[in-house]
Amino acid sequence: MYHEVIEMTETKIGSKPEPTPPAAPDTSILGQLREVVGEERVSDSELERVVYSGDPSSLPQYHYRWKGKYLADYVVRVENVNEIEEVLKVAREHKLPIIPRGGASSCMGSSSPSRGGISLDIKPMNKILEVNKESMFIRVEAGVTFERLENELEKQGLTLGIYPSSAKSAVIGGWIACGGRGGIGTPYYGSLREHTLSLSVAGGDGAVHTIESEDIDLFSNSYGILGVIFEVTLKVHELAHEHKTFSYGFRDLQGLCNAMMEVAGLEKKPIYLKIADEELQKYSNPLGNGRFVLTATYIDAPNNIPSDELSSITGKNDGVFLGEEFSEKEWELRYDAEFNPKEHTETLMFQELWMPIDRVYEMLSAYESYRKSHKISALWFGMLGTPDGMRLELMTMINADQYLKFISSKGILHKMVKKAIKSGGAPYTIGLQNSIYMTRAYPDRLVEMQEAKEKWDPDGIMNPDRVTSCLTSFRRIDVLFALATAFRRLSRYVGK
Ligand SMILES: Cc1cc2nc3c(=O)[nH]c(=O)nc-3n(C[C@H](O)[C@H](O)[C@H](O)COP(=O)(O)OP(=O)(O)OC[C@H]3O[C@@H](n4cnc5c(N)ncnc54)[C@H](O)[C@@H]3O)c2cc1C
Repeated sequence: MYHEVIEMTETKIGSKPEPTPPAAPDTSILGQLREVVGEERVSDSELERVVYSGDPSSLPQYHYRWKGKYLADYVVRVENVNEIEEVLKVAREHKLPIIPRGGASSCMGSSSPSRGGISLDIKPMNKILEVNKESMFIRVEAGVTFERLENELEKQGLTLGIYPSSAKSAVIGGWIACGGRGGIGTPYYGSLREHTLSLSVAGGDGAVHTIESEDIDLFSNSYGILGVIFEVTLKVHELAHEHKTFSYGFRDLQGLCNAMMEVAGLEKKPIYLKIADEELQKYSNPLGNGRFVLTATYIDAPNNIPSDELSSITGKNDGVFLGEEFSEKEWELRYDAEFNPKEHTETLMFQELWMPIDRVYEMLSAYESYRKSHKISALWFGMLGTPDGMRLELMTMINADQYLKFISSKGILHKMVKKAIKSGGAPYTIGLQNSIYMTRAYPDRLVEMQEAKEKWDPDGIMNPDRVTSCLTSFRRIDVLFALATAFRRLSRYVGK
């Protein structure tokens, strides 16, 4: 049989080879995508689709059921704007969602599909296109990680100065799309929005624009629902080499929060100000003294460190200096401290809030009392974002198989969001999971984004089911958690 096939295809010496008919063009979606980016950078393999559909906020199955089609159909890695435009064209033709994806570190399902579609990986677009030392700006592709950008700028004596503590994986476009309000450096240098001079974007409608004015506000915090950011111009600063860190232990939450507010209010601003409880510290830099820690890092330049004020503020609030070694370790661990507990639990569930600093005490006391009353393994972490705003992360370590415990932990986090909104705060990252809070926490922004969505993405292909709409509603979630709490109480009573 094998012999026959060889004979049939063999060309006889001297005879003219039969011209092979041109292969019929592959008109399948996969074929069209291969046509755009080549075979290597597109995939429909299940493994890649799974990897590109999740994020570090591990969730149990029921969440996925709500998401509908939570796996991407295709993964496409783009290298330039032409490819983005062509992929958008294919998506519009087939009415396929596009889910822009950077480091996927924003969690909350921000870069996870909800209706299948194309997971569009922008990380291969990671070039630093221009460094202008005269006018102190840089132009970069949106897929460059903060870590690499800082390393490259450092060689030239420059710094962007601000980055999320997920800097090793998070990319510029991803943090812009999440708002970039609070991170390391922002209390001193300002937010990412304040550093953004222009953006180049491909709208969901396929048009490419460079935007410089209020439209930047639309794309900042847009979670990829309007289009794809592919190039960014950013203000930079001269590099400050040395940092000095001071950590203090507190026994009392009120003392910690008072000290935090006073330190944040000083004229000399820290580049990093963190508060955390002993539970969180246990997994990075365990506290030998006190139950809570305040860490403040300053640029070590003449007249930039408020040493006397720090001693006096922490002293009057019963804070104890934890020593130079502990303090320096806090700075070294700035990338890891927040997420280290994840290595020690099946599920690290969390909710991120943006709070006025004068409401942080109230929020944390409520969380501390839930920890006791519901016997949950709770821990928390706060990072100053602006001189008066803090990114507060509330976490629980649980095993998602213990369904009732899981639901009641989620219920507590839901209550904490409601409390935050009443107190002038709001959920921080929106993504897929927190879009239910848009009507209550950001009503004006919701209207603004709904209008923008019609203009920039009339076919509705860009990252559906977040910010302007969602798969479930606040009411449904509220009722579900109220029932779960009642059921939990009842089950305890019956158990007794
Ligand atoms: C350990 C840890 C520490 C963190 N620390 C901070 C912190 O200090 N401050 C802070 O604010 N956040 C923090 N975060 C949250 C998160 O890291 C940031 O929001 C981060 O910048 C997201 O970037 P990313 O590249 O991972 O984006 P992704 O998670 O991939 O995407 C985020 C959103 O942006 C969209 N998107 C991505 N790229 C583009 C693009 N090119 N065009 C249009 N839309 C796009 C996605 O669709 C998604 O909706 C932290 C997270 C972790 C896990």
